[in-house]
Amino acid sequence: MAKKQFKTESKRLLEMMINSIYTHREVFLRELISNASDAIDKLYYKSLTDTALDFDKESYFIKVTADKENRILKITDTGIGMTKEEMESNLGTIAKSGSLAFKSENELKDGHDIIGQFGVGFYAAFMVADVVTVISKTLGSEEAYKWESKGAEGYTIVPCEKESVGTEIILSIKENSEDESYDEYLEEYRLKSIIKKYSDFIRYPIKMDISGQRPKEDSENEYVEYVEEQIINSMVPIWRKNKSELTTEDYENFYNEKHYGFDKPLKHIHISVDGTIRYNSILYIPEKTPFDFYSKEYEKGLELYSNGVLIMSKCADLLPDYFSFVKGMVDSEDLSLNISREMLQHDRQLKLIAKNINKKIKSELQSLLKNEREKYEEFYKSFGRQLKFGVYNDFGSNKEVLQDLIMFYSSKEKKLVTLDEYVSRMPEDQKYIYYASGESNERIDKLPQTELVADKGYEILYFTDEVDEFAIKMLMTYKEKEFKSVSSGDLGFEADEKDNTEDDSENKELFEYMKEVLSDKVKAVKVSKRLKSHPVCLSTEGEVSIEMEKILAAMPDNQNIKADKVLEINTNHEVFQALKDAFATDKQKVDLYTKLLYNQALLIEGLPIQDPVEFTNDICKVMV
Ligand code: ADP
Ligand code: MG
Repeated sequence: MAKKQFKTESKRLLEMMINSIYTHREVFLRELISNASDAIDKLYYKSLTDTALDFDKESYFIKVTADKENRILKITDTGIGMTKEEMESNLGTIAKSGSLAFKSENELKDGHDIIGQFGVGFYAAFMVADVVTVISKTLGSEEAYKWESKGAEGYTIVPCEKESVGTEIILSIKENSEDESYDEYLEEYRLKSIIKKYSDFIRYPIKMDISGQRPKEDSENEYVEYVEEQIINSMVPIWRKNKSELTTEDYENFYNEKHYGFDKPLKHIHISVDGTIRYNSILYIPEKTPFDFYSKEYEKGLELYSNGVLIMSKCADLLPDYFSFVKGMVDSEDLSLNISREMLQHDRQLKLIAKNINKKIKSELQSLLKNEREKYEEFYKSFGRQLKFGVYNDFGSNKEVLQDLIMFYSSKEKKLVTLDEYVSRMPEDQKYIYYASGESNERIDKLPQTELVADKGYEILYFTDEVDEFAIKMLMTYKEKEFKSVSSGDLGFEADEKDNTEDDSENKELFEYMKEVLSDKVKAVKVSKRLKSHPVCLSTEGEVSIEMEKILAAMPDNQNIKADKVLEINTNHEVFQALKDAFATDKQKVDLYTKLLYNQALLIEGLPIQDPVEFTNDICKVMV
């Protein structure tokens, strides 16, 4: 019988699974039971929507059987089963379970971490077993098949006998090694507690044969052994339980069981509504940004259940884009099982639920911000960008919802602050909310343009995300205060007059000459009212800022949109005296100085210099 090879990725994962020193091996059972439950769900769903099928409720169950002597653990289900082809494609490849695809190379090297936190579906069986056998018969088929594998080297599939539809997973539990014990996975009490811990809410009964002793009739001190089939799980789905009965650990277990994320949730939200609409929902705000979150591949959505039966695994209509990071599920009795994707979009109930959920997420985030600031900042670092996109998108129609959830780094506080915090401590004479844009906080700290505003004692918000300026343009005002870039032509206050002895008219000729040298690179050359210690900077006139110019230039459909730049000269700087002297005696020198100053200003802004070779040659000219 020919042995088949696993796909490369699967093989790697398997090897990791087999070899990892791993403390949470117990989750293998969670994974196998969860698969069994999924398989029964599929059959159950069929029976509800296909009238030709008729099953009674009793016939749906999962059974866990331990045979200590032969070191065999069996997980049996009465689910939909697998065809030979399905065994081939579902058990021979890991891509389906999705876990591995989401991990970076680095994270994969540290294999036991992924397995530890999230489990990797069916392959988890190899953490405790050296041989895994799957016997399955699918609905509507006469034949059954046996899949078997001893691990990474491959697997076999052969026809076999099986009476009823469903699947049997047979694990040959590993022998104990010097530092690892596997015996526990054959112990009733241990298996029982693992099932309780991870699979309590599974909707179908999980049965075990539990042995016990009872006193022999007519005898005081003699006992007889007996075996009794028990249902181990409570079968109440976690979302139907009372919040007060549940611990944070329960919610975290559910998050992992469902593979909602590879992290721990930062916060869970449990909603039970029993009014004109009825639904239960458990939502999570993840801790870390999924690696594909800001890419096109990322799909938002919540699991949607109709009265306990999963009808859609990613219902996008339940979440607005700006909350696309939220994970979780919704169960409603008011939704039809047969509802199609198209119908769902127009479903009134679903719209109401979505609206409700949206409100709830917003208020939970607000309370997180208010009461657990550190956690909120952690959240904001992962998903703040998405909120700012939310302000910008849809022509700003959601800005009311979001403006109090966004934050920016502050020059004064040296940490993230909200717009409300900023505005509430503005001095009375301050008219605008000031911001400065740049690549990083460190770079903005050093921007010459910030000098005057900072000197006035005004707080400056640092915009380091591409979306920031665009979002603020959409917001326009916050609490009636307009936003103003520290690089804009008019800062909205008068600089101290005595500092600026020179004005434009006095140096009109020089500036006009400099403007000619630079031709259309700048709109004008002017006396700077904002510079204190730096000789030169760029400011802008009009709507397009320098940061926006950079962002637009990086876009694929770059339309070569440029900011209207003004070269500002600090007339109190020594360099200016040199310029003036040169203007009186040596025009060529003015040309040289002008180009140098302009290129310096570009460098400070993080803009490219058109001709770097010429620039360095110019510097050499000054040096010799
Ligand atoms: P996932 O559950 O995330 O799809 P798994 O690795 O746990 O990934 O399982 C892979 C696939 O194998 C399942 O999607 C399912 O199609 C099939 N499968 C696993 N166990 C069973 C089972 N007990 N009954 C029917 N199909 C199963
Ligand atoms: Mg699974």
